[in-house]
Amino acid sequence: MGKRQKKGDKLVVQERISRLFSLSRRVFKESPELSNRYVKLARDLGMRFRVKIPTKYKKEYCKKCHTYLKPGVSSKIRLSQNRQSKVMVSCLACGNIMRYPYSREKEKA
Ligand SMILES: [Zn+2]
Repeated sequence: MGKRQKKGDKLVVQERISRLFSLSRRVFKESPELSNRYVKLARDLGMRFRVKIPTKYKKEYCKKCHTYLKPGVSSKIRLSQNRQSKVMVSCLACGNIMRYPYSREKEKA
């Protein structure tokens, strides 16, 4: 007993990160600024405890300016069909363009 505490801590942090992202999602409509702040808090937590932000949440904010990305509001999503299918997400706050593979298989890793 006691030795497994570290692992438990990380789990708690992970839970807090996902809670912050769901809050971010929820408040965006009323206050995009608050929702950006939740993203920042989640990132700070991840960095402090060396917990990786899950890929699904990483796609919800801009890699460059960390704005919460809401499709059609703070981001624009396009599919590129040449060769490999990719999802192109452009951040409307800073103009940064992020590309993700379209296949779902990568999510497992
Ligand atoms: Zn941006």
